[in-house]
Amino acid sequence: MDTWLEIDLSKLANNFNYMKSKTKTGIISVVKANAYGMGSVRIAQELEILGTDMFAVATYEEAEELRMGGIKKEILILNETSSENLKNSIDKNYIFTIFNLYYLKKWINDIGENIKKLKFHIKVDTGMNRLGFKLKGIGELSELIEQNNIRVDGVYSHFAAAETDEEFTEQQFINFNEIINKFEKNDINFKYKHLANSAAGLKYDKYNLNFVRIGMALYGLQPLNEHDSNIQEIFTWKSKIIEIRKVKKGERISYSSKPLIDNKRIGVIPVGYAQGYMRQLSESGYVVCNEIKCRILGSVCMEKIIIDLTNIAAEIDDRVILLGNDVSIQEKSSLAFTIGDDILCKLSNRVERIYKDY
Ligand SMILES: *Cc1c(COP(=O)(O)O)cnc(C)c1O
Repeated sequence: MDTWLEIDLSKLANNFNYMKSKTKTGIISVVKANAYGMGSVRIAQELEILGTDMFAVATYEEAEELRMGGIKKEILILNETSSENLKNSIDKNYIFTIFNLYYLKKWINDIGENIKKLKFHIKVDTGMNRLGFKLKGIGELSELIEQNNIRVDGVYSHFAAAETDEEFTEQQFINFNEIINKFEKNDINFKYKHLANSAAGLKYDKYNLNFVRIGMALYGLQPLNEHDSNIQEIFTWKSKIIEIRKVKKGERISYSSKPLIDNKRIGVIPVGYAQGYMRQLSESGYVVCNEIKCRILGSVCMEKIIIDLTNIAAEIDDRVILLGNDVSIQEKSSLAFTIGDDILCKLSNRVERIYKDY
């Protein structure tokens, strides 16, 4: 095996329990994008045992994958679903999202009376301008719901800047309540209301309502700028050195590099951007080998990176850490001009996931 991702399930449990104790409300575990690259079925199985109340995924296909993996709890599907798949979902305990009139009308038209057998949450837009109903759309939506006897269990929205902007976050909460009041005037009442993501769940109490939807904190990505040591990265991306050689002053390394200004000893790692290693870390990133940081030399290739082993005691076949724990994803992501979530969900499925039980 050239490269693998070790996933520490005891840390997943710690992160889950910490968020649970901190937010004191129900948890919707967000396992979209293959659980942020961690492997959605295995992660969801653990979270179900730990007592998550519900799961959220982006697509119908992701929900199906969880059911095939034996997951029993309700699954909220955040994006749209085709009429065909809706019709196939009676008795599957899925919750679909109503976020515009276009799809709602299409569903009613395509599946008729069957729509009564399904569960829905309504997504409302409180300031992100992505998906969901605004105040002025609530009238027509309420009529359609009543006329067609649609089972609406919940309402939710999403924060755009919970980690940085208190004023805007509060305004989103005010907008949320205003929209809910409008529904209630139309005699539509919700069993569940949820709004907070990891950042809001950590930073505030008042937005927690019935559920918080937690993604990044489960996997150990830091939701706030201040580091919270109770949230630990559950992943360590590893590989090994497959070649070591000496390169002389004046020679070159990897693609398009300049002649070396001194002699070096270098190592080759069989991982590159094809596996999800960030090409932006060319010349600037490092890996850790035998607890020592080794700089990346030259550009990250499709299937290889080259590291500086000058004066470092390392042999062929020694393990290296590419990311996680000793190699902070926070630092790596800012060097790569992105965020940790982005890096994790681009890890290729050629990186084998290995779960460490507890
Ligand atoms: C991804 C997502 C979340 C989780 O957000 P984190 O910041 O990772 O906790 C919550 N709600 C919705 C609608 C999402 O799409």
